[in-house]
Amino acid sequence: MQTFRFPVDPWRLVEVEYSGDDLGKTETIFALGNGYLGMRANPEEGREAYSHGTYLNGFHETWSISHAEDAYGFAKTGQTLVNVPDAKLMKLYVDDEPLTLANADLVEYERSLDFRSGVLTRDILWRTPAGKLVRVKSQRMVSFVHRHLAVLTLEVTLLDSAAPVVVSSQMMNRQDGEDEYHVRSAALGEGKDPRRARKFDQRVLEPRLQRENGNETILGYRAANSRMTLAAGTRHYINTPCKAEVTTDVSEDIAKTVFTVHATPGDPVHITKLVSYQSSKGVPTEELADRCSRTLGRAEQEGVEQLLSEQREWLDEFWSNADIELVGDDAAQQALRWNLFQLAQASAKTQEQGIAAKGVTGDGYDGHYFWDTEVYVAPFLAYTDPEAARKVVRFRWSMLDAARARAKEMSQRGALYPWRTINGEEASAYYAAGTAQYHINAAVVLALRRYLEASGDIEFLAREGSEILVETARLWADLGFYSTNGAWTFHIHRVTGPDEYTTVVNDNFYTNVMARFNLRYAARTVRFLAEWNPKAFEALRRRTNLELDELDVWDAAADAMYVPFDEKLGINPQDATFIDLEPWEWEETAPDQFPLMLHYHPLVIYRHQVLKQADVVLAMFLRSERFTTEQKRRNFDFYDPITTGDSSLSAVVQAVVAAEVGYDELALSYFKQALYLDLCDLHGNTPDGVHVASAGGVWAGIVNGFAGMVERGDHLEFTPRLPAEWDRVTFHLLRHQAKLRVELDASGCTLTVLEGLGVALRDNGVEMVIQPDVPYRVNSKL
Ligand code: BGC
Repeated sequence: MQTFRFPVDPWRLVEVEYSGDDLGKTETIFALGNGYLGMRANPEEGREAYSHGTYLNGFHETWSISHAEDAYGFAKTGQTLVNVPDAKLMKLYVDDEPLTLANADLVEYERSLDFRSGVLTRDILWRTPAGKLVRVKSQRMVSFVHRHLAVLTLEVTLLDSAAPVVVSSQMMNRQDGEDEYHVRSAALGEGKDPRRARKFDQRVLEPRLQRENGNETILGYRAANSRMTLAAGTRHYINTPCKAEVTTDVSEDIAKTVFTVHATPGDPVHITKLVSYQSSKGVPTEELADRCSRTLGRAEQEGVEQLLSEQREWLDEFWSNADIELVGDDAAQQALRWNLFQLAQASAKTQEQGIAAKGVTGDGYDGHYFWDTEVYVAPFLAYTDPEAARKVVRFRWSMLDAARARAKEMSQRGALYPWRTINGEEASAYYAAGTAQYHINAAVVLALRRYLEASGDIEFLAREGSEILVETARLWADLGFYSTNGAWTFHIHRVTGPDEYTTVVNDNFYTNVMARFNLRYAARTVRFLAEWNPKAFEALRRRTNLELDELDVWDAAADAMYVPFDEKLGINPQDATFIDLEPWEWEETAPDQFPLMLHYHPLVIYRHQVLKQADVVLAMFLRSERFTTEQKRRNFDFYDPITTGDSSLSAVVQAVVAAEVGYDELALSYFKQALYLDLCDLHGNTPDGVHVASAGGVWAGIVNGFAGMVERGDHLEFTPRLPAEWDRVTFHLLRHQAKLRVELDASGCTLTVLEGLGVALRDNGVEMVIQPDVPYRVNSKL
C-alpha cells in the first residue's frame, strides 16, 4: 500500500512537496472534470507526465475488433476514448531557462485541489539556474456551470531582479504515444493489463480546421473512423505593468500564443487562458468552432472572478445536499469529501452521455460505460441530485434501439444492454466476462427504480421508464426457460454474474434474483401505468407492441424463478455448480500473484472457488429487504474468505453487508479500502483514472452501511451502527421534494425533515411520516 503523503485538510487535497515518483497517481487524484470535459493534473509546463490526458465524455475512435477465431455475434467494433488536444500547457522561461518541475530548484511548492471552490492551484517559489527568485502561481478550473469551458491562469512575479520572461501557451494535439507513457510503460508492463486503454498505431485526429482571430485560436479535427468531430479553442489575455509582446502561431497540431515580457521585480505578469471544447457525432468542425468561440466570448465578458464565484456557488449547492460530515476522524473526513467530489466531477455535466468507469479522469477501460454507474453511482445521484440520476437513466433509454438490435442478434426478444460501450454497441470482445453479464439489464432497472422512488417523477415513468421496463423484462422472460424435469422452476443458463472469476454458468444466484426483481417490478409498474395514465399506457403499447398477457408471463417467471440454495451449508451457492468447484490454493498464492487475472489463465481461475468481487453478497445488499440478517451472515461468512477483492467494486459491498451482519471492524476495514482506493492507489491502477464506482460505493458505505438505510417501497428504514472510532456523521437525503437530515451518533440517529412535506419512515415495523422540523430518533439495536 502506498502511503498517504498529503496533509490532513477537511476540504482540500494538498501536495506540499513535488514528487515525480507517483505522477500517474497524482495526475488522477488532482484531475479536474465536469462530467463532460476532463483534464488530468499535468503541470502547466507539460513535463513530466505519466499521461497528458484531456477527455471529452463520449468522444471516441472506433476500430475493427479482429478475433483470431471469430464467431457469430461477437462484438465487431472497438471503441476507445480519444485523448484530445491538450490545452493545459503554459510553458514558462525566465532568462530563456525553462521551468521543469523535475529538476527545478523549488524553494516552495504547494498544489491544492479545493473541493469547495472547484479550483486546482499551484504556488511555487523557483530559484532559476541564474539564481533569481520567481513566484509562479497558477489556477485551473473546469467549469461545473459552463459545460464546454475551462479557465487557466498563470501569474509570474520576479522577486529580486529583472529578466526576460516568456510564456508559451499552447494547445497541442499529440499523436498517440508521443511524448508520454515513458513513465507509464515502466509502471505496469504496457500491453499486459486488459484494463488499460488501447493505443492506436495510426493518426486518429485528422486536422480539419485552424483558426486564428485576435486573441483566439481554434483547432478542429475529425476522428478517422468514428467520424466524430471536435473543436478546441483558446483565448488569452495578459495583465501586467511590464512591457509585453504577444505572437500567435497556428498549425495543424499546435496553436501557440507566446508572451514575451520584460519583467521587472515585484511586477506580476498575469496571463489568463480561456479554453473551450465542443464535440459531436457529425456536426461540421466549422460549426463546433463557432460554438467554442461563442463560449469563449461569453466567458471573457463574464471575467474570471465571476466564473470562479459561479463555480463556488455550484459547489455550495452540491455540498448542501451531498456532503457527509464526519466528526472524530479528520483524515477519513478528507478522503470522504474527495470521493464525493469525484462523483460531482463525473456526473455534473454529462448531459446525453453516460458516466464511464473512470469518469473523465483517465482512459482506463477505454472510457467505456459499464453497469458501474447504475449500481454504484445512480443511488447517490438519486438522493442528492435527482436531475443527474434522471440523465443517467435517460441515457440508457436513448440506447434502447441499439439494445433491441443486440438482443435480436443474440436471438432474444426485448433489449439487451451492452456490457461495455460508448456508442451503444457491444464493445466487449471477450463474451465470457462481457456479453454474458446479462445482469446489466437489471442494473438499469434498479437505477430507474431508485430514481423514481427518490424523485416521484411519474412523468418519466410514463415515457422513458416504462419502455425500459418492458424491453428488459421481455429479455429475461425470453432468456430463461422452465425446467422440464417435473419441477416448475424458471432457469437462466449460461450467464455470468458480477463475479468475473466464474463465467458462463447456469442459474447464477445474483442474476436470477435481479432478473426476478426486474420482471416483477416491470409487471407491477406497467400495470400501475395502465391504471394511472391509460393514454400513456396505450402509447407504450404502440411503441413496444406490448401484449397484455406478457405481464402475466413476467410475473409467472418471477414466481417460478429458481434461486439456488444449499441445505447442507445453509447458503446460496453462487450458481448451479459453484459448490462443486475445487477450492483455491490460498497458501500457495504469493501476494504478488494478485490480481489473479493478470497471473493465471482464465480457465484456471474459473475452475476454482475463488471470487473477483462480491456476487451473492452484492445481491444481499441490493435486494436487502428480501433476505434476513441471518441469511446475509451465512452467505457473508461463506463468501468473504474466498473473495479476492481483485475488482475495486467489491470492498464497498463487503463493507455494507459486514456492517449489517455486525462485523463492525471488518466493515470499517473494507470501507477504508474503498475510501483510500485511489488516494493510496491500492489497486495499482489509479494512474488510469479514478474508480468512480468505488467512490459511489463510499457514499453507500455510509448511508446503507453505517446508517443502515434500506428502502422498503415508499418507506425508508434506518439501522444505525456508527463505527466506534467516530463521534458523529451527518448527511442529507433528497426524497420526493423533501430534504432529510440524518445525524448518526453512538446510540442511534436523529432524522429531521428540513424541507418539503415529510418523509415516510418505517421503524420497528411501524410505518409513519416524519413531519417537518419534528426530529425523530432511531435507536441503535443492541
Ligand atoms: C469489474 C466489473 C466492472 C469493470 C469496470 C471490472 O474489474 O469486474 O464489474 O464493471 O471492472 O469498472
